[in-house]
Amino acid sequence: EISAATNFIRNMIQQQREAGQQQKVVTRFPPEPNGYLHVGHAKSICLNFGIAAEFGGDCHLRFDDTNPEKESQEFIDAIKEDINWLGFEWAGGVRFASNYFDQLYDWALHLIKEGKAYVCELDAEQMREYRGTLTEPGKNSPFRNRSVEENLAEFEKMRAGDYPNGAKVLRAKIDMAAPNINLRDPILYRIRHAHHHQTGDRWCIYPSYDFTHGQSDAIEGITHSLCTLEFEDHRPLYEWFLNNLPVPCKPVQTEFARLNLNYTVTSKRKLKLLVDESIVEGWDDPRMPTLSGMRRRGFTPKSIRDFCDLVGVNRAGGVVDINMLYFALRNDLEHSARRAMVVLNPLKVVITNWDEGREETLTAPSHPAREDLGERQLPFTKELYIDRDDFMEDPPKKFFRLAPGKEVRLRNAWVIRCDEVIKDEQGEIIELRCSHDPDTLGKNPEGRKVKGVIQWVSATKGVPAEVRLYDNLFQVESPDADKDKDFLEHLNPESLEVVQAVCEPSLAQARPEDHFQFERVGYFCADRRDHQPLDAGGKLVFNRTVSLKDSWAK
Ligand code: ATP
Ligand code: MG
Ligand code: MG
Repeated sequence: EISAATNFIRNMIQQQREAGQQQKVVTRFPPEPNGYLHVGHAKSICLNFGIAAEFGGDCHLRFDDTNPEKESQEFIDAIKEDINWLGFEWAGGVRFASNYFDQLYDWALHLIKEGKAYVCELDAEQMREYRGTLTEPGKNSPFRNRSVEENLAEFEKMRAGDYPNGAKVLRAKIDMAAPNINLRDPILYRIRHAHHHQTGDRWCIYPSYDFTHGQSDAIEGITHSLCTLEFEDHRPLYEWFLNNLPVPCKPVQTEFARLNLNYTVTSKRKLKLLVDESIVEGWDDPRMPTLSGMRRRGFTPKSIRDFCDLVGVNRAGGVVDINMLYFALRNDLEHSARRAMVVLNPLKVVITNWDEGREETLTAPSHPAREDLGERQLPFTKELYIDRDDFMEDPPKKFFRLAPGKEVRLRNAWVIRCDEVIKDEQGEIIELRCSHDPDTLGKNPEGRKVKGVIQWVSATKGVPAEVRLYDNLFQVESPDADKDKDFLEHLNPESLEVVQAVCEPSLAQARPEDHFQFERVGYFCADRRDHQPLDAGGKLVFNRTVSLKDSWAK
């Protein structure tokens, strides 16, 4: 069992509790609805929802929706679905930062009246120039000393739609010489004549992330605002707003390291590019590191939660090996996935000493260690399929599968011997003639050892399936490390191979999203979108989730 290591945030809350400081813990997960959630978000979700659950508190879902042009209802719906799928429920209804636009507007007026905010007309380039650099202080804007009355009037005109996009902004009046650039009169509001998915056309000015986030936390009574390290430098600003506005409470921001995975990109912008350029088939393409892609690929919610536990939460960044994710996945599927026999690359076998039309139904457990999953039935007939890779005409010494004159055990069935190899005119092997030893069902053959065991499927009773063999989308460990090179140059051209396979008949009833271990082959999942059970008139489509072999050293 994978169990959560303790982490510094949990320890911090534990200490606050012991010191009697903390009432109810309230956290939030604040996605911007401008894309689908990815594996990095899972870390934040597991942390925020996990902490709340552990301390008997609440975790809110709040959409951070202050960039209307990039956001959409599609993304909102997908994010909600993914969080629920991962196994978490937010407390209360879904919240939106846009719910607080009226309050934020009032607070902007409050700052103006206190002489702590002003309307500035510098354009973007001037703004950059005035801001200064890490080593040089900024310069005061020429609009910095406008009167309160003038600022109120200008801000009202901004709100009323009197100005085009970008003409003016509202800025906080803090300190243009502050060593922390975030405190150099940051922008509070910008003009965007854009339709908003929640507020429609009510607003043409929108608050900035910084002016929205902490105050939304305060409105919701968030106690612990957990965010990734790139916001560490924003913390003084987060606190400045809380200290300069009549907020109902003062949440505390604590930062932790983002999750980075090798062979993967976890930036919404890059993932969006893969979708927009049709490099993948959509946000939920099984090769995508999005939660919906991972779901389609066959990841279980538990495997992702376990992975987040394994990764832990700390302030030191770093890149996590994707094999750790696969380790958590195999660990769960080994226990939960039913077994099935599937031949990906079929080669016909005719059992010469088996009567035409004779059919025996063999049984096998659905899982070697779980009786509760029952049994499956395996019809055995005169014509079978085995995998081409399990036969060699001229095998090397250590080849224990089928070869001319050699024996192999058909899994859950008899031992067969290959007596004859049939080829077509081009010399390609099209069929093997074999004889079975009727005395070997469930027991070893007399007087000889048969080492190899291979999977098989009845040629007449087996069912066809499309099998999609997925591999990493990127060929190199750090696809986006090289700043001068396009990450798209590192795409793995073999990230998807489609084969026509033959499956044991029990798979005809598989439901979308059922998980299986195809014995000796790997873990597979019935595709959520394209798979339909044969009895419903559909077509079987399985996605390779992960191979059987584990290459992550714990
Ligand atoms: P991206 O850079 O991919 O666009 P983001 O941080 O802009 O991500 P948000 O929707 O704002 O995306 O993220 C919601 C929450 O998830 C934030 O609190 C953010 O810190 C967290 N988060 C995003 N990416 C990661 C990651 N790789 N590891 C941990 N937490 C993350
Ligand atoms: Mg963000
Ligand atoms: Mg972003």
